Amino acid sequence: MIIDTPLIFEKSQKGCIGFKISKSTVPDTALNKFIPENMISNKGLNLPELTEFQVVRHYTNLSIKNHHVDKNFYPLGSCTMKYNPKINDSIALHPGFSLIHPNQLDSTVQGALEIYSNLEKVLLELTGMGAITLQPSAGSQGEMVGLLLMKKYHEDKKNKKKFVIIPETAHGTNPASVIMTGYNVRQVRSDSRGRVDIEHLKELIDDEVAGLMLTQPNTLGLFENNIEQISKMIHDVDGLMYMDGANLNALVGVAKPRLMGFDIMHINLHKTFSTPHGGGGPGSGPVAVNSRLKKYLPSGFINKSENNFYIDSNVETIGKVHTFYGNFGILVRAYVYILSLGNMGLKNIALYSVLNANYLKFLLSTNYEIPFSDGTLHEFVISAVKQKDKGIKALDIGKSLLDFGYHAPTVYFPTNIKESIMIEPTETEDKKTLEDFANAMISLDEKVDSDSDYLLSSPYNTPVRRLNEAKANRELDINYYEIQNK
Ligand SMILES: *Cc1c(COP(=O)(O)O)cnc(C)c1O
Repeated sequence: MIIDTPLIFEKSQKGCIGFKISKSTVPDTALNKFIPENMISNKGLNLPELTEFQVVRHYTNLSIKNHHVDKNFYPLGSCTMKYNPKINDSIALHPGFSLIHPNQLDSTVQGALEIYSNLEKVLLELTGMGAITLQPSAGSQGEMVGLLLMKKYHEDKKNKKKFVIIPETAHGTNPASVIMTGYNVRQVRSDSRGRVDIEHLKELIDDEVAGLMLTQPNTLGLFENNIEQISKMIHDVDGLMYMDGANLNALVGVAKPRLMGFDIMHINLHKTFSTPHGGGGPGSGPVAVNSRLKKYLPSGFINKSENNFYIDSNVETIGKVHTFYGNFGILVRAYVYILSLGNMGLKNIALYSVLNANYLKFLLSTNYEIPFSDGTLHEFVISAVKQKDKGIKALDIGKSLLDFGYHAPTVYFPTNIKESIMIEPTETEDKKTLEDFANAMISLDEKVDSDSDYLLSSPYNTPVRRLNEAKANRELDINYYEIQNK
């Protein structure tokens, strides 16, 4: 196994080229006729020099080292790594979509505007909400946009609010978004059923509470079935209900967040609606709101006059949160996915993802501890406490799975379960894949007794073995300038 792949800059060889352009027939013109002298760089670009073939091989080899959902099962809990159908890409790459420019006149991009508008309609139907912005480019950005809307609502009403309540199982982006918006966090505990502890919530609610951020179903894959009571408690102090919609996969076509009392929510198109994610984007995290909050949405949304779509703005808006109107290519992919599934297909997302999670949970239940398992929807959390007692941690099991060619599940999150391993199979996996994975997990448990040294030194077949993960995160080794100056 080649561990040390040189950077493409290190592979550069003076004079190598991939492409020859014939001599220009346009007369040369000095650049400084168009660009001020002080803005022209004379340094050259310092790009690597390689043949086309070398570039293709370089990136193909890198892609093989990495794990991706086209390669094998990717049960990364919380992240909904479902299959991304290829038809999404082929339609998004149609020149009519991929070659248009956001500065074109509205009259020349009516089709694109119609797609925005239709996608908005479907998402509103599925969520029961009154208005939506497609601009945010991730769930986490959606959270911040949603919280800014919440803040604007309270400022307009001269409400003196300071806190947003978040369950202890929340995704890390939730508290981060709260702090960035200028609120502080109050953390509510989970009860013995893995849901929001209502008694503790009562203690936390007062007039300074701006709202509650709740993942529904929650991070343990459980439906917060006291949701109506919770919504009423928050609304009684004029707080707003924010739904982290990253788990919408379990609800699509089955339940509408607005009817549960949510006022604001984000949707991760790159999770629920099968657009690609990982590696930092581009994603898409539309934010849907109740009709009362519509006037605060970011400007630059699509409206329709008699027969023309046009781009509109809000007077009381929180501002703009993205260039133009969001990641168009991702929105097209989500829309294709929705159209290709149709009504019943959309509902089946929820039904099959719940079925798959429950089947897999059952297969694992003899060998692994499963603390909160009453009412599992689309994902579940097992615990490696039994294995830990014998010296094998959740981390070791995750690492050992890599040798089977699987991506490891999410480990040590949520934090209220010891040695947690969070598994989300998604609806796109077949029965055999789930059974093979379960067999791998079971064989690892059997090795805890028979060959624990094997588990402690795994993985054996990956490009790199055990990394110092804290160091790898803090000291990223990607600075190519340093390499150039070596
Ligand atoms: C993925 C996720 C987020 C953040 O969404 P991004 O699109 O990754 O920014 C927030 N909450 C939960 C529960 C998630 O699973």
